[in-house]
Amino acid sequence: MTTIRLAISADCHVNEPLGLWQDRLPNALRDRAPRVEQRGEYRVLLAEDQVIRRFRSPPGAGIFGSDGHGGDDVASRLAALDRDGVHAEVMYPNLAFFCTYAIRDPVLQSAVCQIYNDWVSEQFAANPRLAPVGLLPVRDVSLAIKELERCERLGLRAGLLPAHADFRPYNDEVYEPLWEAAAGTMPLSFHAGTGRSQTPAHGPGGAIVNYVVTVGAPMETVAYLCGSGVLERHPELRVTMVECGSGWLAWTLDAMDDAYREHHMFVRPKLRELPSDYFRRQGYVTFQRDAVGLSNLRHTGAHCLMWGSDYPHPEGTYPDSRRILREQFADLPQDTVDAIVFRNAAELYRFALPETSNGPS
Ligand code: MN
Repeated sequence: MTTIRLAISADCHVNEPLGLWQDRLPNALRDRAPRVEQRGEYRVLLAEDQVIRRFRSPPGAGIFGSDGHGGDDVASRLAALDRDGVHAEVMYPNLAFFCTYAIRDPVLQSAVCQIYNDWVSEQFAANPRLAPVGLLPVRDVSLAIKELERCERLGLRAGLLPAHADFRPYNDEVYEPLWEAAAGTMPLSFHAGTGRSQTPAHGPGGAIVNYVVTVGAPMETVAYLCGSGVLERHPELRVTMVECGSGWLAWTLDAMDDAYREHHMFVRPKLRELPSDYFRRQGYVTFQRDAVGLSNLRHTGAHCLMWGSDYPHPEGTYPDSRRILREQFADLPQDTVDAIVFRNAAELYRFALPETSNGPS
């Protein structure tokens, strides 16, 4: 019988202090900083002159979980992991997640990333169960490379880029030195819901339209990275599409190969292997609950899937992760379960595994 021998969440979100940027940014940038203001019944997250998100007050389910409490600390994170039966976590930002990639000014965007990266590394980088991810600016690639190198020195385990960079897509040659730098240092993550509005639809059905569009959209980034030869030119580069489910992946891999073969007269650059080969070798996706994805394993393999709880977001599996894992992995071989539930993440993010991962839980 399949057991969940250990769980590592490849997708969690840490609550930064609400005033992090206003406290730490220099005066010249402070009035455009990411900030939370009360407007009527809503608490509004702003950056520059843009309203990023509105949350009904009081905020629900940890979106603003740090509200008034100065943000998470190691003790609160470990307590949540223990309650959920999860050994370790990869930590993405929360407020910064929503607003960093909406910022248009490259200098402000880079400063916002630096401040977050300083805070998250000061707080969490030393704990072996916690793997904070660094925020990389994207508007100015030279600043992104500088920040990537700084993230490595700070002990951060991956670098976050937006799932979409519509102002300059990822097949632009200006990114080449960034891919090169990342290939030699740390994996890159592209978290669903970053780089584009998460709420383009309004009115009837809007919540469903927005969710489907947001979590399905990283297929486009996969096609950019595979089709343009980024992964071929940088065989050491590892890329993860975060919180996007995996059910779309089998179809996307097949569609890329179909395009490569059937539209060969239009395809450039020519690749040495099929586009899907590069993703199977160098790419990952994370999901919380995904029966469809797990039924597609004969197309995708288990190497490129990782489970994540998405704690503390409402669409995540906390505090029922163990039960949800047991149910959705019940019919799969133990080696497949181990790979998706902890081993792929342990290898990618360099988590040490405890002895208990060899015994039943
Ligand atoms: Mn997430």
